Amino acid sequence: MTSTQVVRATCPHDCPDTCALLVTVEDGVATAVKGDPDHPTTAGVLCTKVSRYTERTYHEERLLYPLRRVGKKGEGKFERISWGEALDTIASRLGSIAARDPQAILPYSYCGTMGLVQGESMSARFFHQLGASLLDRTICATAGFTGYKYTIGATIGTDLEQFQNAKLILIWGGNPIASNLHFWTRAQEAKRRGAKLIAIDPYRSLTAEKCHQHIALLPGTDAALALGLMHVLIAEDLLDHDYIANYTVGFEALKQRVAEWTPERTAETCGITVAEVVELARLYGGMAKAGEPVAIRTNYGVQRVHGGGMAVRNLTCLPALVGAWRHAAGGVQLSASGGFPTNKAALQRPDLLTKQPRTINMTTIGDDLLRAASPEFGPAVEAVIVYNANPLAIAPDSSKVMAGFAREDLFTVVLEHFQTDTVDYADIVLPATTQLEHVDAHSAYGHLYMMANNAAIAPLGEAKPNTEVFRLLAQRMGFSDPCFKDSDDELAAMAFNRQDARAVHFDWDALKQKGWQKLNMPDAPFAQGGFPTPSGKCEFYSASMAADGLDPLPAYIAPYESVASNPELAKRYPLAMISPPARNFLNSTFVNVKSLRSAEGEPHLDIHPDDSAARGISDGDMVRIFNDRGSFIAKARVTDKARAGLVVGLSVWWKKLARDGKNANEVTSQRLTDMGRAPTFYDTLVEVERAAT
Ligand code: SF4
Repeated sequence: MTSTQVVRATCPHDCPDTCALLVTVEDGVATAVKGDPDHPTTAGVLCTKVSRYTERTYHEERLLYPLRRVGKKGEGKFERISWGEALDTIASRLGSIAARDPQAILPYSYCGTMGLVQGESMSARFFHQLGASLLDRTICATAGFTGYKYTIGATIGTDLEQFQNAKLILIWGGNPIASNLHFWTRAQEAKRRGAKLIAIDPYRSLTAEKCHQHIALLPGTDAALALGLMHVLIAEDLLDHDYIANYTVGFEALKQRVAEWTPERTAETCGITVAEVVELARLYGGMAKAGEPVAIRTNYGVQRVHGGGMAVRNLTCLPALVGAWRHAAGGVQLSASGGFPTNKAALQRPDLLTKQPRTINMTTIGDDLLRAASPEFGPAVEAVIVYNANPLAIAPDSSKVMAGFAREDLFTVVLEHFQTDTVDYADIVLPATTQLEHVDAHSAYGHLYMMANNAAIAPLGEAKPNTEVFRLLAQRMGFSDPCFKDSDDELAAMAFNRQDARAVHFDWDALKQKGWQKLNMPDAPFAQGGFPTPSGKCEFYSASMAADGLDPLPAYIAPYESVASNPELAKRYPLAMISPPARNFLNSTFVNVKSLRSAEGEPHLDIHPDDSAARGISDGDMVRIFNDRGSFIAKARVTDKARAGLVVGLSVWWKKLARDGKNANEVTSQRLTDMGRAPTFYDTLVEVERAAT
């Protein structure tokens, strides 16, 4: 007789929606993954990527056994070894490096899983006890987080479950149809109820096509648009004076600052019309003044440029100027993650550090793997342990990243599901479990539910959870602290702080049964101020920024690479390139799932008809995209979705699955944002030519 059960799980991927899953398991085999219809934000719907999760889990190319490299680095040739041999080899190499200087060992990880247990818990304990270099995990969000936090104090904002009640939604720097689907459902509902949707994005994305209006500004100029909007709001008195007086600081200084951002200057900087600036401000401020809820959903596209932190800061000032926070459906959301009382100290145990090691920024891994020992840098990196990440595909300035990982003297261990671009450079490969095979607890950054993930099936082959790998390594390294014996359930039970009023009912056993639990947060978090900033107010003027050596007022920081800021460079490389997520991929995850890859076809470059004509490029031609850092090949799609002067390479392709073995990160740079030490992926000038065939 067939035994069938349905297991409650959580989508682990780097997506704001953190969906509640129901996994059907028949005789120990997962046969279907569906969205939980009872979970209020998932509402029974998954994106196309995760609705194919069984295809990914049982993929014929899953890594099922530990492997040792037998070919050259990058060749991807391995032989099977036992877990005992793999762990002994790793412990012995790490032990001998640590005896000289443990800082020569570097963990490299990000959000391959968003799980609090399989992400940074036992792994962090292990590296803390070892004294390894710390990793600054900046690759996605830290610029925006920093700008947002300087302004309103925490990554808290409009609750996803309120957006359907907004009357105006600015979708600023994101493409929710591809990467925030359950927000898009709410925005659609708002539209049905009469709301106006406006997309602000250099590219006419799937989302922008479906909004009432699309403002296609130049990449990296969002900060200027926000300044121009503030200018008009103040000049035309579309303000909530009572809110400004009671719940903000620095209005007079802001007023002086934005006086110079006339609609004409704004329009010229952003490459849009004066009418677009003025009408947007009038609509936003006018509706707010009429008592209508006006909301902004911004996303990380805004902040992947030189002035990305400031751009997020500037647009985060807007709701306080017009009093939009008074409504539950007003305000702004970049991330909701700051609402979660995550107990990182218990999970990660920074107290195991006996002295403070150096920190290496994951964004500059290309340069840092090639750096020699020096008094400033410390020891050269001798070992990298990669988990939940694929730096060969996703890190900027890819040729440098590849050169670093190709070092014969670098000992590289990769924990993975598949033979990614990074695995090809590993000395030892360890097979990791997928979300269906392990336990985890999750916060979210797009909604307010604590989530549980139960293991639905047994690990495939000899795959092990990340936690177990680090437990076993700790044992071999002789780490005796009892924390290295904590089980995954024990770790999950310490994921959230029980004493915190926001999670007053947090109980892991209950969460596992139910699957989710909403935080205890007010519907309109800043209706009466209460911003968690040093002043307790929304900070138009930020003394913290001044103390950190930054401009304390909203400002415009031009891109590193643009016609306006670097005309010499722009003569050689006149096209701005952005590389936002392809709909069927999630960063570099899912690229090897055939049905999803087929839906994307092959790497494309969207180019405006004027720019293609000027280069003799026709639709469907193979083109070479290049600058001083490198080049890659893609198929041209001639389309006015890309504004003139902009090219768009939807990403992130595995290099080995592209015809030239390269992807868009060949041309992106390792330069950092104004704040948050984050990458500037969308601050990239290139030239495009027909590729030799
Ligand atoms: S990737 Fe996002 S939308 Fe898709 S299932 Fe996961 S959380 Fe939901």
